[in-house]
Amino acid sequence: MHPYPSVFLKSGKERAVLRHHPWVFSGAVSRTETESDGAIVCVCNPSGEVLGTGWYNPHSPLRVRLFHFGTEVPRVDAAYWQAKLEAAWQLRETILPLHTPTNAYRLVHAEGDGLPGIILDRYAQAASLQLRSAGPRALLGIVVDFLRSKGITRIAVQEAEDTPPAWLDEALDEVVFEENDVHFAANPLDGQKTGWFLDQRENRALLRRYASGKSVIDCFSYGGGFGLHALAGGATEVTSVDISERAVALCQANHQRNPKLSGKYTTRQADCFQYLRELPAHAADIIVLDPPAFAKSERAVDRAARGYKDIAWLALKALRPGGLLFTFSCSQHVDNYLFRQIAFSAAVDAGRPVQLLHQLHQPPDHPVSIYHPEGEYLKGLVLRAED
Ligand code: SAH
Repeated sequence: MHPYPSVFLKSGKERAVLRHHPWVFSGAVSRTETESDGAIVCVCNPSGEVLGTGWYNPHSPLRVRLFHFGTEVPRVDAAYWQAKLEAAWQLRETILPLHTPTNAYRLVHAEGDGLPGIILDRYAQAASLQLRSAGPRALLGIVVDFLRSKGITRIAVQEAEDTPPAWLDEALDEVVFEENDVHFAANPLDGQKTGWFLDQRENRALLRRYASGKSVIDCFSYGGGFGLHALAGGATEVTSVDISERAVALCQANHQRNPKLSGKYTTRQADCFQYLRELPAHAADIIVLDPPAFAKSERAVDRAARGYKDIAWLALKALRPGGLLFTFSCSQHVDNYLFRQIAFSAAVDAGRPVQLLHQLHQPPDHPVSIYHPEGEYLKGLVLRAED
């Protein structure tokens, strides 16, 4: 016997759970012993054998999010969660010193850390936490205690997708942090993501290595992460372009935080599709395309593919000979293979010989459970336009 209510799977629907996939969809469920949102449940095969333990959500097609696999049912108490949080902390302590210096990074990457539904980003001594469903929401106190024990005292929390985040105690206007000795500020309350796109840190460091003496256009710039790294790498001129007034203001504020950067920096509030269409030939040595997810669902993939292709085609046409295109997609529904096809067909249509120099992805503080390939979402390519 186990202490939690059971959720029984339909016959033939056990396979994904046996392979440690952390999601059980409503169509796989035959019967449940609870309807309570956020209840801890045991997922069982039709004969009642436990396959895993997770959180129940009666309101979502994603009925159970599993955080534990196997017949043994864990005692899910504070110590259980503390051990998982500590494992996530230790992973970062081990891997981050091997990479780009930073004091902002993802501390918990949901399923990738065995903590489904929990996103926790650290910004120096502050943190931004997302607990957008009832199961994870019950862990708020445990996560806060854990963070305080690590000296992280200012915490912003978002408790549901449709409610704005809020600071727990004292409010901060912004969080300040460094990536690669470039200084940034962002606001978890009115920013995008948890305030910053931490997942592009290693790719910004790569751009920086190529930037010396170059002119760079940073499209879909948000707060200027790529653009300011290009300046730090010695770019002579950089233009950051974003449709959002707030993003453009954040670029300017972030630029001012780095008075030592000597190249020319310009910001433009514009629709990047339009902006790219109006670029003359030989407009830049390097163009970065880091748009928002064009495909939010499987159904939107065709349209998204056209969007990614259009901007890549426009950018490739505008590059100087030997110029580089850094192009990204954060759509989970556009996989690596499709993204390559899109970029390569843009190159063919642009009529330029193009070489593939790098294939990029999310950094290791955004780990992917190999049983949950959906966790791998960020992909990028560096293409060189030869003549
Ligand atoms: N490159 C950024 C992250 C970009 S997020 C970084 O390194 O942090 C995507 C950005 O695209 C958002 O800031 C959003 O305001 C902007 N955006 C969305 N649609 C746009 C469009 N059509 N033209 C220009 N910017 C757009």
